[in-house]
Amino acid sequence: MEGSSGQVSKATNWQSALQGAVRSLDELLSLLQLRFKDVPDCDPGSSFPLLVPREYVARIRLRDPRDPLLLQVLPLGLENSFSSGFLSDPVGDLSSEAAPGLLHKYPSRVLMIATGMCAVHCRYCFRRHFPYDEKPKSIESWQPALRAIAEDSSVEEVILSGGDPLSLGNAKLQQLVQAIDSIPHARRLRFHTRFPLMIPSRIDSGFLELLRQTRLATLMVWHINHANEIDEHVAVAVGELRRAGVQLLNQSVLLRGINDSLDSQCKLSLRLVDIGILPYYLHQLDRVEGAAHFECSVDTGLSLVAAMRERLPGYAVPRFVREIPGESSKTLLS
Ligand SMILES: *Cc1c(COP(=O)(O)O)cnc(C)c1O
Ligand code: SF4
Repeated sequence: MEGSSGQVSKATNWQSALQGAVRSLDELLSLLQLRFKDVPDCDPGSSFPLLVPREYVARIRLRDPRDPLLLQVLPLGLENSFSSGFLSDPVGDLSSEAAPGLLHKYPSRVLMIATGMCAVHCRYCFRRHFPYDEKPKSIESWQPALRAIAEDSSVEEVILSGGDPLSLGNAKLQQLVQAIDSIPHARRLRFHTRFPLMIPSRIDSGFLELLRQTRLATLMVWHINHANEIDEHVAVAVGELRRAGVQLLNQSVLLRGINDSLDSQCKLSLRLVDIGILPYYLHQLDRVEGAAHFECSVDTGLSLVAAMRERLPGYAVPRFVREIPGESSKTLLS
């Protein structure tokens, strides 16, 4: 299919949206009508470069250096300061590899680092120092991981993560999904992604079709931190996924100055529920080098979820958790 067919033009849409994403601090600030002196600590030369799609920029308030969306993507000089206890691999990813690119930490489920690419660079990302270049990229190089899953009948769920698994095109994703689908003891397929939040047109007909074709139960965990991140285009993408039978959950990270108030947590939860996503986890920040300035105390999180429980229906209150290396699940804090 070529030319004006809906499928092709949509597929090129999200890829060109990614190609056209904002990558320079100058441009980001000028789009937001900010001057360098409004954000004195910003760092144009960060080794984890700025990346933010224009669809997301459009949801950031103009002339507000404290905007909760801007703070998630703006590189700061603070990221270069040393903080004890903040590590390059805070959750022990590299010591839990069962095969190249395959993390097996918890019973019955494995996580594939499907790609290192993302639609956005989140400044608090716990995999910001992950050695993606050394990980498998082609379906051939995934064979050891797929074999390891096939040989372990205790594995019922495969999680596609990254990076962002939806940075892969539909053809590549379909190869992976089909390979997992053909492992008899695999029952569930889960995506962890921020891509359709950034670029909602990623939920195109090709992607929906590959979800409809698999016999696996499908889940998608969105990573949404603030209600302002959700606009009507995001809500439409969510609706498409629900009609394709995908279970939708959300996890967020508790971030200082971004979502650490009761009002912002309640708004996020209710907005999620209203568009059809259930709150799943609220994560205590993983202590990755460069992200110390985002950390809130565990007590802050505990009192937030306690107060949310008094205000919201039970299903709208996320479980407040942290990841402790070596444990057999996330650790429930509340
Ligand atoms: C977080 C994580 C999972 C998923 O844990 P759930 O509690 O099932 O959401 C699976 N594998 C790894 C390596 C993880 O870090
Ligand atoms: S989308 Fe996820 S993996 Fe990518 S930078 Fe953001 S938090 Fe990290």
